[in-house]
Amino acid sequence: MRTEEELVKLIEYHNDLYWKKSTPEILDIEYDMLLQELGDINPNHSLITQIHTPEVAINAKKVKHNNPMLSLNKAYSLEEVLAWAKKYIRNNDELFRIQPKFDGISANYENGILATRGDGEFGENVTDKLPLIELESEGYRGKLNRDVRGEIIIRDDDFKEKYNTITRKDGRLYKNSRNAVAGIIGLKTIKLMLAQNAKVTLIDYEYISHTVKFAQLAEKWDEILSKLDALPYPMDGIVIKLADATYAESLGNTAHHPRGQIAFKFTGIKKETKLLNVNWSFGKNCLTPVAELEPVELGGVTIRHATLHNYQNILDKDIAIGDIVTLERAGDVIPYIISSKNGEHRKSCIISECPSCGQELKLVGPELTCQNDECFEICLQRLLAAIRSIGIERLGEPNVRKMMESLEVKSLKDVFELSKDDIAKLDGFKTKSIDNLYNEIQKRKVVNDYELLAALNIAGIGKTIAKTILKTWTIAELQNLSLDELSSLDGIGPERAKGITEDLITNATLIEELTSIITTVQTKGQIKEDSKKICFTGKMPEKRSVYEKLASDNGFEPFSKVTKELDILVAMDISKSSSKLKKAEKAGIQIMDLETWLNSIK
Ligand SMILES: [Zn+2]
Repeated sequence: MRTEEELVKLIEYHNDLYWKKSTPEILDIEYDMLLQELGDINPNHSLITQIHTPEVAINAKKVKHNNPMLSLNKAYSLEEVLAWAKKYIRNNDELFRIQPKFDGISANYENGILATRGDGEFGENVTDKLPLIELESEGYRGKLNRDVRGEIIIRDDDFKEKYNTITRKDGRLYKNSRNAVAGIIGLKTIKLMLAQNAKVTLIDYEYISHTVKFAQLAEKWDEILSKLDALPYPMDGIVIKLADATYAESLGNTAHHPRGQIAFKFTGIKKETKLLNVNWSFGKNCLTPVAELEPVELGGVTIRHATLHNYQNILDKDIAIGDIVTLERAGDVIPYIISSKNGEHRKSCIISECPSCGQELKLVGPELTCQNDECFEICLQRLLAAIRSIGIERLGEPNVRKMMESLEVKSLKDVFELSKDDIAKLDGFKTKSIDNLYNEIQKRKVVNDYELLAALNIAGIGKTIAKTILKTWTIAELQNLSLDELSSLDGIGPERAKGITEDLITNATLIEELTSIITTVQTKGQIKEDSKKICFTGKMPEKRSVYEKLASDNGFEPFSKVTKELDILVAMDISKSSSKLKKAEKAGIQIMDLETWLNSIK
């Protein structure tokens, strides 16, 4: 047991890392547990009751909000939400609006000034961050163009795709989107972020909402929660408010919160349930344990499964079938098991043999892996990943499984060689669906070479790295690549290079087979290091892709966005003022009209 003093020290240490330095060392959930531990000893400690907001722009000017931005009262169960609602409804038809509670920085844009919520009364002026910000609002995505109150966040998809390369000043990556937002909005200068093409989103609070009558609130709760939960934004709960804004306002505020709104928090909700079984699900390289649970309601959603992450986690937490496990929902992620108590009848959930092929499993790091190259389930997952990567969207797991079982499909090459007659042999395919799938497969027979390389399931090669590699070498040249040559590329260290060269040799036959049936568009030579970066804007006589193709044929590198690296912006009408044109003008990028450019390349 830790003493109050020890806990306070620990929490203050983590507060500093999280809120000021944006470099947390522990998971949010672990932090919450520290707070809870402190709460058990001293429920009134100021560390528990204080409200935190990220400290941004230390030197920025304070902005006084015309309407104070208050924090919301919180509920942790549907019962609490209903009890709150009952206090204010005028009848059972009273309407409520349910909206996401974003996990970012609350901000207000008014008269050209962007300010954070701060302490509610005074916020920080962060207008200098506008070049990084895209507004998302009803029917609109683009530059901030009107007064709005919303939350600055990084979309989940952006964080996944962009922020795996965007680094902080010290060269490190951001740990999560929450820290990235706080870090970026707190920067003194955004030069580095602009150069890395960083983007943050200001999402209008009014953008996403579900309206529901009080009488149906309980019934619709699950459905609305699931819908909101599936959105690509970091959220830590939802906001429920009276839809009649005038009425809500008339109710006024308590000292800290508006009466007409309440926040329902995903975090901090814990429930105990029994672990009924553990199923091991297959991935490309390893087996993941998934808990089968006695159904339990958690935050209004019935939970039957939860991930157990990996083999090591089961050992660390000493989890066995029959145990009583504690579930927690953290942020908008799937609930997971944070601790476990021994049950009466315990049965080990550890397996030593592959449930698919029977081969002995090996421990690699924290993961259990099946190292049998012929293992059906592992082959299925790898083929599925290759199919997704090459972009055959119609082919999901059930059909790939059927193909492997009844058509002896083993590799991407086999998929490309399927005839209409082959597809017709599969259950559930009719004339139209046969044609659709067949045509889609044929279409993907022409791909960029880096798309093919990325589809080979070589550890460490995604599309970005594949493109980097193939800018320098052709697919054919890869076979003779030395370790030194490969590790000289940006983003590939010696360790990674070693794995990649080995995998390239193992995959040599597959690459050869694939390139014999599909056409790859070579990247090398197409994009020269000194090639001019070009972007097109405005409605043009032909499709955008036509001009982009023309540009790359003529040694330009097409860009879809105006960034500082851009050399030329080609516009249909340079007298029109679009956001791209304005941005290019500001950044001193050469602008020309389409005709001039076309003439220049003749
Ligand atoms: Zn196996």
